[in-house]
Amino acid sequence: MKNMRVRFAPSPTGPLHLGSLRTALYNYLLAKKHKGDFILRIEDTDQDRIVPGSEDYIIEALNWCGLTPNESPSNIGNYGPYRQSERKPLYDVYIRQLIDKGHAYYAFDALERINTLREKIKGEVFSYNEKTRLQMDNSLSMTSQELSHRLQQGPQYVIRFKTNTINECFILHDEVRGKLKINTKTLEDKILVKSDGMPTYHLANVIDDHLMKITHVIRGEEWLSSLPLHILLYKALGWEIPCFAHLPLIFKPEGKGKLSKRDGERLGFPVFPLNWKDSLGCREKGYFPEAFINIIALLGWNPGGEQEIFSLDELIDKFSLQRVSKSGARFDKEKAKWINQQYLRKKPIEELISLFHKELEKHKIIYKDEYLRKIIEAVKERAHFISEIWDHSYYFFESPNQYDVKSIKKVEPLKNIFLLKKITQPLSKWHNFYASTLKKTFEDFIQKKQLCFSKMIQQMRLALVGTLQGPDIFLIMEMIGKEETLKRVYRFIQMFSV
Ligand code: GLU
Repeated sequence: MKNMRVRFAPSPTGPLHLGSLRTALYNYLLAKKHKGDFILRIEDTDQDRIVPGSEDYIIEALNWCGLTPNESPSNIGNYGPYRQSERKPLYDVYIRQLIDKGHAYYAFDALERINTLREKIKGEVFSYNEKTRLQMDNSLSMTSQELSHRLQQGPQYVIRFKTNTINECFILHDEVRGKLKINTKTLEDKILVKSDGMPTYHLANVIDDHLMKITHVIRGEEWLSSLPLHILLYKALGWEIPCFAHLPLIFKPEGKGKLSKRDGERLGFPVFPLNWKDSLGCREKGYFPEAFINIIALLGWNPGGEQEIFSLDELIDKFSLQRVSKSGARFDKEKAKWINQQYLRKKPIEELISLFHKELEKHKIIYKDEYLRKIIEAVKERAHFISEIWDHSYYFFESPNQYDVKSIKKVEPLKNIFLLKKITQPLSKWHNFYASTLKKTFEDFIQKKQLCFSKMIQQMRLALVGTLQGPDIFLIMEMIGKEETLKRVYRFIQMFSV
């Protein structure tokens, strides 16, 4: 059997959308599952649309996800170059071949003429095809002298595919969609080479996939409508047709349409893997690469069964195109966060400590590992991201700068502050400030004075944390120490004493 070779072929026209990364991932999974090769090809034939920095972005995003290509512009294999703009001489050979065999022709029509024709004529939309081509300004109705004369006048021409529509109706198998009936009757004579001499996507893509020995073309659904043209090109060039799989769209969480950058902004979920200019990326938002992979893997692939958390190795083992759905996948932000949380919970404590150190640097805070270890262990269950560990634990590092209004209503410090007042004196004398001892000392004191334990604890929590949330209050006291505990309690008393 042939070695499986798949490719991810992005155009460097901006940041990668997470849908494109999903295409990369499915390609990668399939290649690894079948011990094949995963190739990165940069499709930059449309020079006008190139956005500086995009190629580096693509490579960095793949690296971040751990989807390292076997061959790429920086890891040249036997089928280079891996940037289309560097492959022009290769294309020229096949363009010549298509023209010589009558599968393509020169067209000199001015753009304005085509545009005028494109406006509806007699209720029909103009199409450059077998019906109209002979009335147009192209080499099909020229003598060879005329043609060479026109060609000498300058490169003001394009090369079009001469679509063969004579009863061309064929059946094709798409790995995701099953049987597809292709009818070439409706096809246009598409441009294969632009007036700048560069091939269009359609031509370059087919030639490259053939020359790079690609066995499976896995790409987004938006290319399905180009499939008939690609098939005809393979046939015209006399080449074996690879397997095709067109992946479903990723829809916004509700309503119609694709998940867009604007949806991401509205949802607070980045649709890009990494920061791009002023757009936030998933990495910077705090998604772990392995969680991100897991999230996008499930957007359109149904593993069957209950399991939702998959390592990359498990994905390689379980993935199949047959379980990719035909209908679009809906993006679910809550599920994405939940998946990240599962990975956070499973991370070794040492790794969490080191990540939390970086988070604390943003707040200009440095603490010892041992201190952080206890905090992380106390709050990590609540966090989806490392940044949320901070949200749930800032009071271990600094006193609250405000008290939550709802909690104040509940605890009524103006009425109940006497409780805290009663405890400050003894508290300042307790030497053993460890959570377990503190709890016992508190209980004994409250019992002796016949006070209400829960009300006392609520006052204390509000004073120390600023809300009624957080882990064991005695742990908080132990961690921040006696001095800081008293400082916060005094401040609270002062604020709520009339
Ligand atoms: N350059 C195309 C894109 O960025 C690739 C399509 C394909 O994979 O054939 O969508």
